[in-house]
Order: sequence, then structure tokens, then C-alpha cells
Amino acid sequence: MKNFECLGGDCPDTCCASWGIELTSDCQRRLKPAVDGIEGGYDAVIETYAESRRGRVGCFRFGSDNRCPLLSSEGLCSVHASHGEAFLPLTCASYPRAVGVRPQAIEVGGFLSCPEVARRLIETSDPFALVDSHIDVSRLEEDQRIDSQMGYESMLDEVRVFVARLGEGLALRDGVMLMARFCAATVAWFNRSSCQQDRFSETMRHFSTPSELDELIKQPVSIRGLQAVGETLMQQLGDLVVDDGRYARPKQMITDLLTETAWTDHLDRCHRWPGLIDQLDDPLHRYVTHHWLTRWYTNGPDLDYHMDRLALKLALIRIVVFARRDVQIPAADAMVDAIYAVDRLVEHHGWVHRCRRALSGLNMTGMELTACLLAV
Ligand code: SF4
Repeated sequence: MKNFECLGGDCPDTCCASWGIELTSDCQRRLKPAVDGIEGGYDAVIETYAESRRGRVGCFRFGSDNRCPLLSSEGLCSVHASHGEAFLPLTCASYPRAVGVRPQAIEVGGFLSCPEVARRLIETSDPFALVDSHIDVSRLEEDQRIDSQMGYESMLDEVRVFVARLGEGLALRDGVMLMARFCAATVAWFNRSSCQQDRFSETMRHFSTPSELDELIKQPVSIRGLQAVGETLMQQLGDLVVDDGRYARPKQMITDLLTETAWTDHLDRCHRWPGLIDQLDDPLHRYVTHHWLTRWYTNGPDLDYHMDRLALKLALIRIVVFARRDVQIPAADAMVDAIYAVDRLVEHHGWVHRCRRALSGLNMTGMELTACLLAV
């Protein structure tokens, strides 16, 4: 993220569009002088809606175009321009940086719901290079700090690097299947309240050179199961267009691509261009590594939950890339669009919960479902 530069007014979909960023009472106080002079005054820009332990919580009032009321006609933040970064809500000031504050180090990564971060992941030769950085963490929220008292902190580095590397050298599907087996096998020993280090380390050793590798990555996929999962995802993607009007660009992009595209069309394209699946392996490998290094630890230690989320996002990205009828090779632009759109809808919009609910109605085991999602 050291060389990241926000696209500003050139961004195809500014991150603050439709985003119901929570404004704490402290934040509202800070913003007041900056927004008082705006037409309509403070109340035209900010609404409050709930009491929390940190005071009265609010958010920006979005217009019918779902743009932040503080965005200038050039697509730039007017508060940032007139008063500087210190006046901004924390989310606005830090996004798309994913910050984790730990006893040993402060880590900064990037959220892929920003198209420019997604582009850097795809186009940079070594997107995971570690570089020294200096950031001011004094304003960070509690939930961005990982408590050293928690059991899992003691093995955090070891576990996430281990999971991220587990599939190295394997085809994407095999690698992610191996990760899923590992996560399922260890879930009881690594959670927010405890870490059974011995048992966990033993399982890590076992997965380091598994003698039964074939067994661990093998999971039969029935045609009926695959069809049920594929049709469910198509249905969920199709329903986006009749959703609540928020996150218009990624929804429009996906629904435009999927117009008249049914599950059978997707299968047809997969059969016609089998090479395309292989060409997606490299960018999606990067995506998987990013998910485990940047996303997982800030959200909590539930390995299985993150595995589920990852498998679902991989399936959605593949469907969106394949839906581009003009693309027979995974051009960087197609990958960037698919990654940013899926990440924005899943991570900002909470739409993943609906997908997961719909998939859970299929009554499959966790491994059957993962295998089907990876085969989509
Ligand atoms: S999504 Fe990324 S590039 Fe676009 S405005 Fe936000 S931070 Fe900048």
C-alpha cells in the first residue's frame, strides 16, 4: 500500500457512494464546523439514528444519486479539501487501508472493494512485499486493535501465513480444498477465547507434508449438487437488480453481464473455453493469499467462517468474469471489475449473508458445498 494513490475524481466508483459509514458522536462534533457552512447546514448532511455506548450514532444523508453529500462535482471530498484529513471520519480517512494494530506490529494492507487496490493486486509483480511504513494509529477504533490477551494472538502470524501458503504449488481448486480441510480440522482449537497450541501445531505438522494429500483434496462433486449451487448463485446475482438501490455500479455491472445468462450458459462457456479457467488461477491465487493475509485476522479468528466466505467469493468472481461475452482471456480489466464488484457487495453490503442463507437450504455438508463452489 506504500505506493497506493487514490484515483480521486477519476475513480469509476468512489468508495463513499452509498456507504452508510457510521459517525460516532465524537466524529459528528469534529465534522460540525466543516459542514455547517454547506447549503442546508449540518442537518441536511448528517442524520442521527441510534444511541450506542459511544453516544448518538449517525450517518451521512445520501441524495437520490447515492453520492455522499460532501462530494464535490469533481468527485472529491469537500471536507478533505477545505479542512484536511484530521476532520474526516475514521473510515473515510483510512479506507482502503486495512489496519491491524497488534502488540508486536501495526500492519497495513488494502481492501479489494477499491478498484485501484484490486488493480494493484493483479498488476503488481510482488503485491505481498513487506515494506516499512509509518502511520498515525492514535485515532483507530477499538475493533481495529487485536488484543494481546486473546489466546489466538500467540499463533496469529504462524497460522495465517501457514493457511495462505497451504495451497502453494497446487492447482487453485486443490489448494483451496486443502485449506478448507485444514480449517475444518482445527476450528475447535483456535478461536477467539482460546488456542490449544499443542493440538494446533500437531495438525499444522500433519498438513505440512500430508501423506494422504490426494484424499485431503479429493471431494466428489455431483452434477446435481453443482447445478443446485450454480442456480442458487445465479438467482442471488439476478436478484441484485431488484435490491435496495444501493451500490448501483457493481450491481448494474453484474446484472448487465448476467442478463439472459443462466447457469447453463455459464457451463457452456466453461466448456467452450476450458483454458480460461486455468488462466484465472494466477490472479485468483493472489486473491486467496490476500484474503488470508489481510482480511482474516482483522475480522476475528474463525477459520471456517473465512473459508466459507472465500469459497463463495471465488465462485462469484468466476461467474462474473465468465459472463463477459467479449472476454476469452482474463484481461486485467475484467478481473479488476469482478474482484472489486464482488468485494464491494460482499464486504460493504452484507449481501453474502443472503447467499449463505440460500446455499444452506441446499442441505450439503461444508466440504460438499466448498467443492461445488470451487467447481463453479
Ligand atoms: S474506491 Fe479507491 S480509488 Fe476510488 S475513491 Fe475510494 S480509495 Fe480512491
